[in-house]
Amino acid sequence: MSNQRDLIIIGSGPAGLTSAIYAARAQLAPLIIEGEPSSTSDQPGGQLMLTTEVENYPGFVEGIMGPELMDIFRQQAQRFGAEFQPGKVSSILNSSSPFELEISGSSSILRAKSLIIATGAKPLMLGIDREAELLGHGVSTCATCDGFFFRDMEIAVVGGGDSALEEALFLTRFAKKVHLVHRRNELRASKIMQKRALENEKIIPHWNSVVSKIYGDASLTGVELSDTESHNTTHLSIQGLFVAIGHIPNTEIFRDKIEMDETGYIVTRNGTQTNIPGIFAAGDVQDRVYRQAITSAGSGCMAAIDAERWIAERE
Ligand code: NAP
Repeated sequence: MSNQRDLIIIGSGPAGLTSAIYAARAQLAPLIIEGEPSSTSDQPGGQLMLTTEVENYPGFVEGIMGPELMDIFRQQAQRFGAEFQPGKVSSILNSSSPFELEISGSSSILRAKSLIIATGAKPLMLGIDREAELLGHGVSTCATCDGFFFRDMEIAVVGGGDSALEEALFLTRFAKKVHLVHRRNELRASKIMQKRALENEKIIPHWNSVVSKIYGDASLTGVELSDTESHNTTHLSIQGLFVAIGHIPNTEIFRDKIEMDETGYIVTRNGTQTNIPGIFAAGDVQDRVYRQAITSAGSGCMAAIDAERWIAERE
């Protein structure tokens, strides 16, 4: 595998893999740094690896499982010659082309004329005591990964968006009761998901409520809920707490190099260009509005076309 490339794509979710398909077909022989297999926030395939059925990706009349969809994307990129390397980029060493990249766990430096950043986003946490310690011991951000452990138990999901409702509905397959804790009295999720969730007898909504305390030593035993209006508190005895309150972009390693907004999303202009000529960004890492698999894939396509044109203009 060559250390000198035309294009390196960082990330292998819908944006990274779509840019890989387009770049490979444009003869750029892209290398995709695909993430770390052991991680839940930077795993190859991105967030769809942690979802169940994707019903709104065009082309799949009956829906498709997230991991299967990503496997198809990957095979399609490989068919045109895209190459994959497991691992995470730990830093971009310089600010002009050719770019030099350090990869965690590897001593060699990779070089590329152009880069596409498609590192996606990771789950937001509540930021309260015991949450981090009990992650993996009752606290989770992934129903498809951990739902099975909560067979016949009582659990809660925090959040009012599509992710929270999708998690809650999935968890009804295992759990006895799923408490849905939302900080307002109105859900943010799409109408179809709201209808499904609120009609499910196992899902019990707690409106205007936040989790204010988490209890448990070796594993979760319960939470305290606070009413956002009356400030009254109640105790819920639960064995599982699924946090589904949104995401933050995976941009820590680009800080001080690539322009970002106040919440860490990469700022793009004229399509997918960042502030550094030759570096492009696609997918959730630069999109705080739409954040869909299809829009990520679309912006991945745009980034590959932008990178191809940028390289061609300089040669
Ligand atoms: P989201 O739409 O941003 O929803 C986050 C939810 O968490 C909101 O209800 C928010 O409350 C709540 N929240 C945020 N911070 C909180 C905190 N600190 N404490 C308590 N609650 C908090 O995020 P998402 O559900 O992950 O969805 C992200 C995007 O992916 C959306 O565009 C969504 O449509 C899409 N998505 C689509 C599907 C699908 O189509 N099947 C599935 C999953 C996700 P407020 O409502 O009060 O702000």
